[in-house]
Amino acid sequence: MPNLKTAAVHTMTNKPWALAECCDAYVNAGIGGISVWRNVIEPIGITEAAKIVRGSGLKVPALVRGGFFPGFEPPVRDAAIDDNKRCIDEAAAIGAEMVVLVVGAVVGMSLEDARKQVAEGISRVIDHAAANKVKLAIEPLHPMYAADRSCINRMKEARLCCEQVQSPWLGIACDVYHVWWDPDLEREIALAGANGTLFGFHVCDWRANTRDLLNDRGLMGEGCIDIKMIRSWVEHAGFKGLNEIEIFSTEKWALDQNSYLEQIKRAYVEHV
Ligand code: ZN
Repeated sequence: MPNLKTAAVHTMTNKPWALAECCDAYVNAGIGGISVWRNVIEPIGITEAAKIVRGSGLKVPALVRGGFFPGFEPPVRDAAIDDNKRCIDEAAAIGAEMVVLVVGAVVGMSLEDARKQVAEGISRVIDHAAANKVKLAIEPLHPMYAADRSCINRMKEARLCCEQVQSPWLGIACDVYHVWWDPDLEREIALAGANGTLFGFHVCDWRANTRDLLNDRGLMGEGCIDIKMIRSWVEHAGFKGLNEIEIFSTEKWALDQNSYLEQIKRAYVEHV
């Protein structure tokens, strides 16, 4: 049974809360860490955000998110490089261990070409990441997002990209929501562990009757993912990081967030 100190919560999970409210609530709940989404930094600025996060004493596995590298025109790709460098700077400022990359995909571009541009884009920012001591973690996204959000949909494609770029600063964030269905998941998790590229582990659940492709994630235990089994694979692979709770849900955002956090704590202890 996992201790809450082994958990981090993504600020997006409690979307109605500002950054300071998230920090206070997670500290009071005895949760170990926080992964920060850029939308909560934007209204207050990075200096204030860094003060709040660092002052909380919470561990910070991730800043979410960078990526979106592919584009038909070079200026689009250059703009993505600039934005990713800014994202790395923000991660360094708040003390985040990694930036999560949602790598991008473009309607009308083949997935193969998009993957080439992703590897190219990551290669252009990896030195900046290393200089700032911030890791970059490719998050494979469920294939339902292959058209316009991510041309990397399985752990395997993420591994191939890591093999191309060849940097100790590049690895993978494994989110059960996106990869639970992959028949090669156990093997790929073991490989990532062996390669030293298993940087992040995200948990939530897949509702069998999903009503929205983006904002209808389930709380752990509400869906069909065997999270305990996947966590055992991740631990067996040598993962020592925090288990990040990341739930986008219109339904949950409408709840009183304090009582929802109580539900999250129970779900973590019982189902992760
Ligand atoms: Zn995730």
